[in-house]
Amino acid sequence: MLDEVQVRAETPGVGAGLVFLDSAGSSLPPRIVTETVVTHLRREAEVGGYRAAQERLDALDGVKAAIGRLINAAPASIALNDSATRAWTDFFYAVPLREGDRILISGADYAANAIAALHRARATGATVEPIPDDPSGQLDLDALAAMIDERVKLVSLLHVPTNGGLVNPVAEATRIAHRVGALVLLDACQSTGQLAIDVAELGVDALSATGRKWLRGPRGTGFLYVRPDLALEPQRLDLHSATWTAPQEYRIAEDATRFEFWESDIAGRLGLGAAVEYLLELGPEQVYAAIAARAEYLRKALPEIAGVTVRDLGARRAGIVSFTVDGLESTRVRDRLAEQEITLTVSHASSTLLDMNRRGLASVLRASPHAFVSYPELDRFVAAVAALR
Ligand SMILES: *Cc1c(COP(=O)(O)O)cnc(C)c1O
Repeated sequence: MLDEVQVRAETPGVGAGLVFLDSAGSSLPPRIVTETVVTHLRREAEVGGYRAAQERLDALDGVKAAIGRLINAAPASIALNDSATRAWTDFFYAVPLREGDRILISGADYAANAIAALHRARATGATVEPIPDDPSGQLDLDALAAMIDERVKLVSLLHVPTNGGLVNPVAEATRIAHRVGALVLLDACQSTGQLAIDVAELGVDALSATGRKWLRGPRGTGFLYVRPDLALEPQRLDLHSATWTAPQEYRIAEDATRFEFWESDIAGRLGLGAAVEYLLELGPEQVYAAIAARAEYLRKALPEIAGVTVRDLGARRAGIVSFTVDGLESTRVRDRLAEQEITLTVSHASSTLLDMNRRGLASVLRASPHAFVSYPELDRFVAAVAALR
């Protein structure tokens, strides 16, 4: 069991009457993360960025090692960058596509991914087709099996959508995609730091994640995992992703650094490493159990309020609780709760257009409690929702 008292004590943002329910947006970091970032920024101010980085070389190497332990991957298969979208698009734009090729996307795929897919389809003559959802609302494996053929070059899978708590059957879907040799790119932005992730077990070819959500890292951090034996050529190279070897020659890095540029926010990276180390120390399984229990608690309590509908789909549920309140705009609910120091966000149809249009929803409220949220805080949130109407 997770020591909730300890986790709360190590999170400077909790207490003081704040109820924080937005770890699916941008979470509250543990103290060690902020300290790591600020300490490094101070050091840069004292000795300059190069020497400050030189002094932390071991810690910088440790960032990929920690992420590797978290997702069961070799450090060399990880590229650090500034967001999940950067990671996703770096991989996606490297996949060769031509006229007649097919890109399959998930029913609740994130807008940034869908836009990139449509963008490249327009440029290459490939098509973008959504994979239907099954009656539970998760990815329909039979539909996927019926859709695939040799022209499918990439399948975009979504682990946990941005607008609800379901968990898609990624390992099963990946096996189906691999039957025709399609590459599988997994958006694990909402699952990393929440669910325990094992890329070997999932079998995906690439995975994208962000630092600031469930991992509780700094903003402007993210990473890409790429299967080590996959020799894709990035769309852009620099003097870190490649080496200038002769006047007319260069050599692309053999490992995932081929997807990195030289310059980076060193303090942010160190902070991301601290966040991952912290999670590993707590135990990812225990953290997930605490998150899932809090989400289930809300899924029981919220529907007891007249006019409140929980909108989560799927057979297996994670830590995002989506809901609507009859007769009240989601943004209005969010703002009124904010006046009471209760933080949650709204997920609009434009973020997950296919899914929201299909369900006829313009927006949903999104409550995403991390392990540092106490049950009395959840009760205060539920009472505040009940008092709205
Ligand atoms: C937040 C989110 C993203 C984008 O993450 P960034 O770090 O902002 O690029 C991608 N996919 C899903 C499902 C998300 O919720």
